[in-house]
Amino acid sequence: MFGWSINLFRIRGIQLAVHASFFLLLAYAAYEGWQAGGWEQLLWSVGILLAFFACVVLHELGHSFTAMHFGVGVRRILLMPIGGMAEFDGIPRQPSRELLITLAGPAVNFALAALLWAVVGVADDDYPANAVGFGQLLLHANLLMGCFNLLPVFPMDGGRILRALLATRLPYLRATFWAATVGKVLAVIAGLIAAFYFHNYLTAFLFAFIYAAGAAEYRAVQRRDLEDARWRAMANRLYPTPPVIDEPPLLGP
Ligand SMILES: [Zn+2]
Repeated sequence: MFGWSINLFRIRGIQLAVHASFFLLLAYAAYEGWQAGGWEQLLWSVGILLAFFACVVLHELGHSFTAMHFGVGVRRILLMPIGGMAEFDGIPRQPSRELLITLAGPAVNFALAALLWAVVGVADDDYPANAVGFGQLLLHANLLMGCFNLLPVFPMDGGRILRALLATRLPYLRATFWAATVGKVLAVIAGLIAAFYFHNYLTAFLFAFIYAAGAAEYRAVQRRDLEDARWRAMANRLYPTPPVIDEPPLLGP
């Protein structure tokens, strides 16, 4: 499902790629803008969309650079119409590291929002059609992006934070199970509210996608745990644990 992507350029070795469906979104934004007010509005809509996704890339780079700091390889960042996804070689199972890697994404959004607030301030009620309005719109988009990602719906950032917190007390697989379960329940509730109350079917679809992604990631963790257990059992058969020595080894002088 993640095929059909186009590689753009590399940032510190990380390949930035765009899913083909992203161009449909771009075309849709251009069309909507054109309908609303010709060339000027077209450029505005496309500009906002590109700036918004530049912030998505910065959010993913926040995760990626923190992960790289802990020695985790980052293969690529894939941009899709529903957002971005950084592909790691493996997520560290130390809760403190996962916590920092996860927090770094929304932290970038809040930093960008603070920066924009210092430069352009907050809009009164409507965004003026100029650079200031553009900045104010982007400020709100970053606040929304940061907060939305902190919803505890696994595997979104908030759900990962919940998993990391649970993993300080529970085994990793149990922690993932509970984070995924809480995430699924919340995704169903949020999806139903989006569809039947707000009639926002795109958001409902987004939550359906997050539900499926959460279930898939739990299964992946489960599979890895089973494989690890199998390897451990095999290693134990091949190299039985050495007998316990009664005499303690001599220490120092
Ligand atoms: Zn994130």
